[in-house]
Amino acid sequence: MAKVAFIGLGRMGHGMAGRYLDAGFDVAVWNRSKAKAEDLIARGAGWANSPADAADGADAIVTMVADDEASRSVWLGADGAATRMKPGALAIECSTVSHQHALDMAHDLRGRGFVYIDCPVTGLPEATASGKLTLLVGADAADLERAKPYLAPIGNVVRHFGAVGTGTVFKLINNLMGAVQIASLAEGVAMAEQAGLDMKLVAEALGTGAVASPQVIRHSKRMVARDFTGASFTASLRHKDAMYAVRLAEGLLADAPLVGRAAVEAYTKAKAAMPDEDEGRMIEIVSRPK
Ligand code: NAP
Repeated sequence: MAKVAFIGLGRMGHGMAGRYLDAGFDVAVWNRSKAKAEDLIARGAGWANSPADAADGADAIVTMVADDEASRSVWLGADGAATRMKPGALAIECSTVSHQHALDMAHDLRGRGFVYIDCPVTGLPEATASGKLTLLVGADAADLERAKPYLAPIGNVVRHFGAVGTGTVFKLINNLMGAVQIASLAEGVAMAEQAGLDMKLVAEALGTGAVASPQVIRHSKRMVARDFTGASFTASLRHKDAMYAVRLAEGLLADAPLVGRAAVEAYTKAKAAMPDEDEGRMIEIVSRPK
């Protein structure tokens, strides 16, 4: 039976790790805080005392942690997975990291005789338990072929953008555009409220009109109702993605990415006020009347 090491059991990683159990893999899990692993252990996962311990003997190591710093530590730290991976093992980075980080990790792990692919995902935490994520892959074609059995349990759509790093490029573009949409929606909803519009009508018009992207449809209802229950993407994570994306844009474009920078600024405020709250609560920051 193939062995998968799953590292990072947050809102996303927990459901993804469970999918490997459902698919019959031998699964070892590690998370910085063990409590999040308890039910997976009860379902048959093996607890590992470190990322290195999890990676021991694994055919594929999948990570789903917060950011570059967390990723570096679980792969390359003193107890990192890379210290104990078997030759040729497959490293699958599902975390949303910066483009440069994905390139650096690929270079480092390849140098140690492993294969690294970037595979950030789209989809909310509620899509993880049913394996309905979209996987945005950067990998050589042969590496992707090898990885497919390990991607099938977690995603029902695989978009292969090209060589390693390209999945992350697309993910950052996608999330920067999402940041812009949500930040501008918050301002629009706040303006409508202060101008005394019928907010039921505003929500319906936003959700069905020309600007009704999936982000606008989802967040307009939540913002108008100030109801942020359910699956969540935090202000901190959105800020991190927008910041990584703007850094990438600055390396690609002659002119500064003005709209992207405005989104980073909006999320800098949201992160300072409510780092671990749903990103849609941005409305509470911009809705103060003059
Ligand atoms: P989360 O619930 O905050 O989980 C973050 C995970 O990273 C936890 O397992 C956390 O460990 C771990 N972590 C953080 N800092 C660490 C460090 N320094 N060392 C080791 N582990 C560390 O976040 P999430 O929503 O699952 O997101 C995980 C990744 O998926 C992020 O890159 C995010 O951008 C991306 N993503 C999220 C969504 C979404 O809708 N939530 C959708 C697509 C992609 P602890 O449990 O110990 O804190």
